Amino acid sequence: MELLQSLYDTQLVALSFVIAVLFTASLLIAASMIDKRLASNRASPGAAARNFRSLFDYNSDAVFSLDAKGNVVGVNPAVSVITGRPPEVYLNRPFAEAAQIGKQRAMSLLERTLEGHPQKFDVAFDRPDGGAVELAFHLVPISEGNRVIGAYCLARDMTESKQAERRMHHLAYYDELTGLPNRRSFMDTLEARLTARTEPDGVLALFCLNLDRFKSFSHLVGNSVGDQLLQSFADSFSYSVGGIGKDATVSRLGGDDFACLIRLRSEEEARAVAKRLIRLDRPFAVEDREFHLSASVGYALYPLHDGDAEALLKKAQTALDHAKKRGGNHEQVYDAAMEAAIHVKLEIENGLRKAIERGELTVHYQPQVDLENGGLIGAEALVRWMHPEKGLISPGLFIPIAEETGLIKPIGEWVLREACRQAKSWQDAGFPPITVSVNLSNRQFEEQQLPETVGAILSEYGLEPGSLELEITESMAMDVMRTIPALTNLKGLGIQISIDDFGTGYSSLSYLKRFPIDKIKIDKSFVRDLADPDNNDTAIVSAIVAVAHHMKLKVIAEGVETEDQLEYLRRQKCDLLQGYYFSPPIPPVEFERFMQSFFSRSALA
Ligand code: C2E
Ligand code: MG
Ligand code: MG
Repeated sequence: MELLQSLYDTQLVALSFVIAVLFTASLLIAASMIDKRLASNRASPGAAARNFRSLFDYNSDAVFSLDAKGNVVGVNPAVSVITGRPPEVYLNRPFAEAAQIGKQRAMSLLERTLEGHPQKFDVAFDRPDGGAVELAFHLVPISEGNRVIGAYCLARDMTESKQAERRMHHLAYYDELTGLPNRRSFMDTLEARLTARTEPDGVLALFCLNLDRFKSFSHLVGNSVGDQLLQSFADSFSYSVGGIGKDATVSRLGGDDFACLIRLRSEEEARAVAKRLIRLDRPFAVEDREFHLSASVGYALYPLHDGDAEALLKKAQTALDHAKKRGGNHEQVYDAAMEAAIHVKLEIENGLRKAIERGELTVHYQPQVDLENGGLIGAEALVRWMHPEKGLISPGLFIPIAEETGLIKPIGEWVLREACRQAKSWQDAGFPPITVSVNLSNRQFEEQQLPETVGAILSEYGLEPGSLELEITESMAMDVMRTIPALTNLKGLGIQISIDDFGTGYSSLSYLKRFPIDKIKIDKSFVRDLADPDNNDTAIVSAIVAVAHHMKLKVIAEGVETEDQLEYLRRQKCDLLQGYYFSPPIPPVEFERFMQSFFSRSALA
């Protein structure tokens, strides 16, 4: 769209330029011919007169010759074509009538021309048939020797080119789909209102509105229905905004992003308007079908939220992002704290990009213990980021950002590689084999090549596939059609699969039997309050264990911190445990020590 606009813009500028150049050039040519006429008049009066006659008679511009008093003394044939009136109408009449301008203006234009300064002016000219044409007039002096004896008044019909110019302008400043002012036009208006400083008291409210989940909706119903819906929404949006303030400006910024600018009395009023804007209780009709939409609004208030047009729009959009993150159908006013959050996020993102190559990432390991025999059976690999200035940053903070930016792919692969390398090196050092569990992010799981990548890493380090476990979350397992083949491929390699944070997502135990998985990890939030007999979590945990066992799946409880929790889980016949009770996640060297003491203890036992 931007590209299209700049194209229109370029065309608009080019067109206006060409018109101006052509018009000026032809007038210059005409003027120089007239000059030549006067020059050659002296040299060869007969030939010059003939030349001039052709120039006068065949000129496609209307040419009126005027005497020094401004009366029309001659007209060419184009005059009747362009003005729609016979030549007699003009002869011996003041040129003010011919040009349809006031006498005074005509006289002052003529005076300047007779002084040797050609004049230009445009007129919306009425024709006798009721039509109107846009004429561009040019007055040039006629001199004889050193004396100016009159003037030529040339008129060119600019109607078509003016229309083209207007169309170009419309294309450059209005959105074709909805007819609303586009982003550029909106920004110009905003800029003008911010710099005018003639605004009355109150606040200038800039609202940014976005339809919730419109992309997936449009994908579902097809682009044409999506477009019609946008048109229908645009109509209703500008109608409702028009009802709020007379000087309101509405715009479609692009896609399903709309904006409006309204002068309001107070912040309270702005909040009420924002709430009103997202209340789309009326369904939108397209092709006899009704669609219910919801929208989110973010807004900024000038002068409370300061800045130029771009900055103010950015603030409203930042607020909109927040409204969207709250799940849509929300309104949100801008708050400077949002900027700080974005700043932190950007800082993390930038740092994260370089973290791998700078060697700032490490993996910590947390033991997993067999509840029945107390054996150490595995370790969960948990990534850690040692930031050079900020110190240790929790994965809870940077993993979501890595997922949002796609950085999780290289980071996830690095963790997988590192965990496999580490597991193999412990085996080589003579420790009894344990399983290393690696968390997979949604984005990694979506990768077509995942099984190949995992297979290649395993063979690169010579690790048995059975020593690797991948943890996926419930939400990844939701897309059954895609999940089953992906999991089957991974299982085919001999890798174990577990479902992490079980119970926190859209748990459906019935799904489980369709998936080729080995283990369920009960989320630590259920383990936390296990010792409290009044808590519902107790029932949930025993239900999960029962169903999982019925499906021949193992159950591991994470977040085990106390003896009481351990005893409860033992009674529920939970298979495996992980938590601070045994050890927090620790660096590899400490984990080695942990293994040494663990295995020497179990050897003694
Ligand atoms: P998770 O996979 O559920 O990992 C367990 C989290 O619980 C870890 O947090 C661990 O330190 C913490 N934890 C372990 N025992 C206890 C306990 O007894 N009490 C309490 N309160 N917490 C305990 P951590 O290391 O901060 O990791 C947070 C999350 O970040 C992980 O949750 C996982 O979803 C994600 N994550 C960590 N490393 C990776 C990674 O390499 N790749 C991906 N995709 N995600 C990772
Ligand atoms: Mg995990
Ligand atoms: Mg977990």
